[in-house]
Amino acid sequence: MATTAAAAVLDRLDEIRPGLEDFYRDLHAHPELSHEEHRTADKVASRLTAAGFEVHSGVGGTGVVGILRNGEGPAVMMRADMDALPVREATGLPYASTETATTEDGTDVPVMHACGHDVHVTCLLGAADLLAGAKDSWSGTAVMIFQPAEEVADGASGMVKDGLTDLVGTVDVALCQHVLPFPSGQVGTRSGPVLSTADSMRITIHGRGAHGSMPQAAVDPVVLSAMVVVRLQTIVSRELTPGDPAVLTVGSVQAGTKSNVIPESATIQLNVRTYSEQTRTTILSAIERIVKAECEASGAPKEPEFELFDHFPLTSNDPDVTARVAAAFTQQFGDRAQELPRQTASEDFSDLPQAFGVPYSYWGIGGIDPQLYHRAEQAGRVAQDVPVNHSAAFGPVIQPTLDTGTTAMTVAALAWLGRDS
Ligand code: ZN
Ligand code: ZN
Repeated sequence: MATTAAAAVLDRLDEIRPGLEDFYRDLHAHPELSHEEHRTADKVASRLTAAGFEVHSGVGGTGVVGILRNGEGPAVMMRADMDALPVREATGLPYASTETATTEDGTDVPVMHACGHDVHVTCLLGAADLLAGAKDSWSGTAVMIFQPAEEVADGASGMVKDGLTDLVGTVDVALCQHVLPFPSGQVGTRSGPVLSTADSMRITIHGRGAHGSMPQAAVDPVVLSAMVVVRLQTIVSRELTPGDPAVLTVGSVQAGTKSNVIPESATIQLNVRTYSEQTRTTILSAIERIVKAECEASGAPKEPEFELFDHFPLTSNDPDVTARVAAAFTQQFGDRAQELPRQTASEDFSDLPQAFGVPYSYWGIGGIDPQLYHRAEQAGRVAQDVPVNHSAAFGPVIQPTLDTGTTAMTVAALAWLGRDS
């Protein structure tokens, strides 16, 4: 049973549903890469304007902010990300993307909404429409943030650097949702750490090149890198407290060009995920210590170089905010509202509430056809048969996904803004 305010605001969902579905199909067919979300931003801005929001475009590049002031009360910030990925869509959907784009280095790549950010944009616009159409049922300020470039981790911070806090003023709480590979129609909340930190690092190891037949004249960076890769495995297994989850993956090792030439240097790229800033610091400093020591052990002629990139902050949900969201979801969705397991994915959303100094909650909505999911579950094949975010086969079912996401964002906001809250 919904609250009175929620029931009144959601009353128009039937009316706006066909328009939202059309909007979604169009957005899905026309994805744009990080920082290139021009068409998407234009469409978002015109819908917000039509709904009566004060609209600011071009915030942090292609970011769009919509503000609806509706009397006394708290200000609730809601965020959707807008960017897509360089993936060739293989969903077979009638509205599948055939778009391509040219990256900075001149390569042509396919583009696909493989992370479901088109769902987030559509649902946030749905919530904006519903709130704007029922202003008697709530009081306060709704702040809609349409953020660029989540996938490259600098869209949120880019909006902050471009003056987002001055533009918006004070807010009281921040809300965000992501479509995930569980059954459509369900929502999942979690208190505390929910998404990991992520960091990528590029390490350059210097050796001394020589003919492959004369290793005595070389400091072999290939052997040295191999030692480093193996030794790095001991950080998580031997240096962290058992039960403190973390991942250290070496995803790339590059050295040399030919079988009989010992190269001058090697490059290692790795990725680190943790659920606390403290563990993150422990791992990053252990990496430096180990790599430097291995270089010294091999007699490397020059110190190694370290370059950190693509840093994602920790996403840790505020317990009070999350309890309020979870209560609203249970009231609205009954047993379709569940606890979300911790995700090893990462997000830059928390850069926004961080900048405003406010608590937040980030939840998941299901995007997978429930029948497909349950068949996979019964066969013990969820990992194999259920497409996950970033895969070419990830195409959320339109319904009940859009209804659920629109409703979830609306009732969560009303937990602060609703006249009966
Ligand atoms: Zn993603
Ligand atoms: Zn995403």
